[in-house]
Amino acid sequence: MKADILVIEDNEQNLYLVSFILEKYDYHVIQARNGLDGVILAKKSKPDLILLDIQLPIMDGYAVARELRKISGLAKTPIIAVTSYAMPGDLETAIQAGCSGYIEKPINPDIFITQIEDYFHSDGLGDEQ
Ligand code: MN
Repeated sequence: MKADILVIEDNEQNLYLVSFILEKYDYHVIQARNGLDGVILAKKSKPDLILLDIQLPIMDGYAVARELRKISGLAKTPIIAVTSYAMPGDLETAIQAGCSGYIEKPINPDIFITQIEDYFHSDGLGDEQ
C-alpha cells in the first residue's frame, strides 16, 4: 500500500474512474461525495494527498480548500483542484484558496497517475523557495 489519497468528488463516474486508477497503482483511496464529508474525513484520516473537485454542491471546492488548510497536519498536504472550468483565473483562485495545483477534467487515464505523482515529488510547492 502506498499513500492515502482523499478524493472529494460528487460525480459518481469521475469518482469511480479516479478511484479505479489510483487503486490500480496501489494507492489507498478515501472517498467523499461532498465538501463537508471531505473536511470531516480529512481531519480523521490525514491523507497524504487530496484530489478536490471544484464544482461541488453547497460548499464549492474553493471553500473546501480553505477549510482543509485550517486542519492541523494538513498545512502542506498537496491539494489538487480538479475542474472542467478551463477559464483563465481559475488556477489563481484555486491557489489562493490553498490548492497546490490543478488537473483539468475530463481526466486523461494515460497521464493521470503521472500528474498525481508529480505532486508527491514537489514538496514545498514554491511557497518556501
Ligand atoms: Mn462536481
